[in-house]
Amino acid sequence: MVSRDFVQQQKSIAERILPKVFGQLVVQTNEPFIQMIYDLSVPRMSFVRVCILGDAAFVLRPHTSAGILKAATNAVTLANSITNSSNIDVIGALKRWEPRQIELGNNLKYLGISLGNRSQFNQI
Ligand SMILES: Cc1cc2nc3c(=O)[nH]c(=O)nc-3n(C[C@H](O)[C@H](O)[C@H](O)COP(=O)(O)OP(=O)(O)OC[C@H]3O[C@@H](n4cnc5c(N)ncnc54)[C@H](O)[C@@H]3O)c2cc1C
Repeated sequence: MVSRDFVQQQKSIAERILPKVFGQLVVQTNEPFIQMIYDLSVPRMSFVRVCILGDAAFVLRPHTSAGILKAATNAVTLANSITNSSNIDVIGALKRWEPRQIELGNNLKYLGISLGNRSQFNQI
């Protein structure tokens, strides 16, 4: 379903900028697939006693290779925030946990945008 012009453009870029063997692989691929890349972020991750984390909250461009680390960090810091006080206070724990996780998600999002734009658009 991808237009021939785009496929041809992709192949000529691959031939021009990739190491020869990878360039040939792209050129000889009859039906290349395309994966859409989105930047997703949310203004809030906690909602009273409920939260969203990992890719449900922030989706990064692949250039960061940090999606798993981000999801794990969200989860581990949430567990720490809940168990750090002697009384289990889920609402307070979520409130304390949220700001740094939003900051982490936004920092990684902007890093991904910057890496992606630089590697994909500024060098061709
Ligand atoms: C092709 C590809 C390559 C990637 N490579 C890397 C990489 O090299 N390094 C890196 O750090 N990150 C990489 N990522 C990103 C990384 O995979 C994600 O950031 C990470 O998996 C997010 O973890 P998560 O737990 O938030 O979500 P997920 O891993 O997506 O887990 C969500 C889970 O919820 C389940 N689920 C969905 N809906 C429901 C429902 N209604 N009920 C019950 N279960 C449900 C899903 O089946 C899934 O198991 C890559 C992603 C893709 C797509």
